Amino acid sequence: MHIAIIGTGYVGLVSGACFSDFGHDVVCADKDGAKIDALRQGSVPIYEPGLEDLVRRNLGGRRLTFTTDVAAAVRGAEAIFIAVGTPSRRGDGHADLTHVFAAAAEIGEALTGPAVVVTKSTVPVGTGDEVERIIREVAPGIEVFVVSNPEFLREGAAIEDFKRPDRIVLGAEDERAVEVMREVYRPLYLNRAPLLFTSRRTAEVTKYAANAFLATKVTFINEIADLCEAVGADVQDVARGIGLDNRIGSKFLHAGPGYGGSCFPKDTIALLKTAQDYQAPLRIVEAVVQVNDSRKRAMGRKVIRALGKEPRAKWAAVLGLTFKPNTDDMRDAPSISIVQALQDAGVKVRAFDPEGMEQARPMMPGVDFCSSPYEAAEGTDAVVLVTEWDVLRALDLGRIARSMRSPVMVDLRNIYPPEEVEAAGLSWHGVGRSPRTVAGTD
Ligand code: NAD
Repeated sequence: MHIAIIGTGYVGLVSGACFSDFGHDVVCADKDGAKIDALRQGSVPIYEPGLEDLVRRNLGGRRLTFTTDVAAAVRGAEAIFIAVGTPSRRGDGHADLTHVFAAAAEIGEALTGPAVVVTKSTVPVGTGDEVERIIREVAPGIEVFVVSNPEFLREGAAIEDFKRPDRIVLGAEDERAVEVMREVYRPLYLNRAPLLFTSRRTAEVTKYAANAFLATKVTFINEIADLCEAVGADVQDVARGIGLDNRIGSKFLHAGPGYGGSCFPKDTIALLKTAQDYQAPLRIVEAVVQVNDSRKRAMGRKVIRALGKEPRAKWAAVLGLTFKPNTDDMRDAPSISIVQALQDAGVKVRAFDPEGMEQARPMMPGVDFCSSPYEAAEGTDAVVLVTEWDVLRALDLGRIARSMRSPVMVDLRNIYPPEEVEAAGLSWHGVGRSPRTVAGTD
């Protein structure tokens, strides 16, 4: 099957590489010429485990090609995916659909016969109708079927998620579109991934509802963590105690510095804007957004408290900068607000991240970037664990403690058992627990 993907960012590239690995012929188009040049050489511009190998293998097998020519990609494709970015619109937080509508117009201009156009970008309800209208206007007389196929992959585990998804949601209104989408996802269907066919608007809402629910779960356990700190309980045990209940489930119940990343922050806000437009307020999601926003700065204040008197004379080492491990994505990472809060209080910051420092550098002026966690910790007054990268999970805590000016650890991911940290000579600060409440049964 011939597939075109318009927009070769995180989602477009992972989708294109995986579809080609299933045996489809895929052309990935992007307007960013430098990106396409690099991809043609097999060089992947983002850090995502396994992606470069997958791209190289399918480039070599000639099932995957890259172009800046959207019209050429569209011609002859049986399914055309739109996977361009939908960032927050400056000023009001609505999803900015400029790229989606531009892609729709370009697709329309290139069409010569009937086409199935699939929106994979996360877009507010009703966008599919507008995409269809634009294409019909640009390409009168050509039959076009517009499908909504939201993407649920997680950065850091994107290939596994794409190849073994919990479900595939397909908002398709016509038989022809359903048939084509069955063919696109046939290799996955044979793998027993459930294909859920819905109306187009339902599929669009499903994506936002999923992200808002996950953001709510994270925010819920974060507030419970604050309560645990206040009353001397242990949030890790509470999370386990509730998560073992199948109705709740244990995932997304890890207390931490607040959610960030390229999706939850912008998608929750865009959902609220849609809710306002349709006068159907989502008060739970409103609270989630507010609580999460204030949490990131609160984490900065937590570190400042741990540093003790006169933060202006102090140094902090921030370990882990990306919004989660196994990605170099810095979009809306909590580390940005935490570093800013520290700098605002006059604290000097050193930092280390295994993959994200290049992206972080322009976002964090004044930060001293280091080549290892040990170098970052040297001579500082607190190490702050912000992202739970594997390389930060087995640090030589004794070595760290000995190299610091005053040995303090603020573990915002509860990676280390407090007694281990204290035995190494560091004073310990975590999230939602305290040494005397820890039963040692993790
Ligand atoms: P991205 O910013 O990494 O990539 C978007 C790409 O689209 C860029 O390379 C850009 O140059 C290209 N582009 C923009 N307009 C174009 C046009 N007219 N023609 C050709 N190329 C064009 O974005 P992303 O993270 O891949 O996200 C894409 C969409 O998928 C968003 O709606 C996002 O919300 C959604 N999504 C993202 C994730 C994720 O984890 N990143 C997960 C699920 C869904």
